[in-house]
Amino acid sequence: MTKASAHLDTVVSDIADDMRARTERGDVATYIPELARVSPKHFGIAVITADGHVALGGDSDMPFSIQSVSKVFTLTLALGRYGDRLWRRVGREPSGSPFNSIVQLEREQGIPRNPFINAGAIAVTDMILSGHQPREALGEILSFMRFLADDPTISIDEAVAASEQRTGFRNAALANYMKSFGVLDNPVEMTLGVYFHQCAIAMSCKQLAMAGRFLAQSGRNPSTGLQVIQAERTRRINAVMLTCGHYDGSGEFAYRVGLPGKSGVGGGILAISPGEASIAVWSPGLDAAGNSHLGRIALETLSKRMDWSIFGA
Ligand code: GLU
Repeated sequence: MTKASAHLDTVVSDIADDMRARTERGDVATYIPELARVSPKHFGIAVITADGHVALGGDSDMPFSIQSVSKVFTLTLALGRYGDRLWRRVGREPSGSPFNSIVQLEREQGIPRNPFINAGAIAVTDMILSGHQPREALGEILSFMRFLADDPTISIDEAVAASEQRTGFRNAALANYMKSFGVLDNPVEMTLGVYFHQCAIAMSCKQLAMAGRFLAQSGRNPSTGLQVIQAERTRRINAVMLTCGHYDGSGEFAYRVGLPGKSGVGGGILAISPGEASIAVWSPGLDAAGNSHLGRIALETLSKRMDWSIFGA
């Protein structure tokens, strides 16, 4: 083992110990009833470096609901299919608003600010759905995750999908609102069905860090050597993650962690140290902006101790 790998192992194990001992853990999301059943006691971390070293800590093998982290992967798929035409439907500016805000959408004629707020992600999913049945579109998203993570066992938690389908009134409002502006091509129920299921994909930190490797390696999937997406687009996805990946907590995340990252209300965060590592953390308790409380603290420590901030040592 190299000195750098040994150092990373020590840092990851220190972080897991520190997070296990913390009592202030944030609040688990309750607006999707099924997510409220998850214990806030969990913490997991997985770091996979560009040279293939894997450092794991805590509950790194326990699957959780990836929720909005899925939006990074649907954006990648849609960019691959539509190229820059995608940006006609959705912007790429930070929103500064909560993840499910409808006010901004009204002011901006139904064009969502970015692909990572709910409205923007629903618009991206609608683009993936076009020309397909919902089942096929979902199959494409799931196969993509399995291919990236090199793991055919990744699946959808149907209970979480059904739970959100029953209670996702605000997302239905956002989708109907966009439909009224002609931003969605498909029937609202179909687009939402795919969106709720993509958010309900269950993955462990290890699987998620595996899936994110292409973002740390200029678009290449190291398992197959295949280019998932062009290097230039990879840089741009990372840029949108940095500026928009944590809703109205994006500035704070960039300030404290200094890495592109995308959070989900299941408590997961995928963070990328370009050229260095793909990182996934999970702790279900959230802060006021809906981002994992301990996940953010863990990433702040990791980035500091490994000197990984993209803003310099
Ligand atoms: N499925 C969730 C929703 O649309 C995702 C939100 C999130 O993870 O931030 O409300």
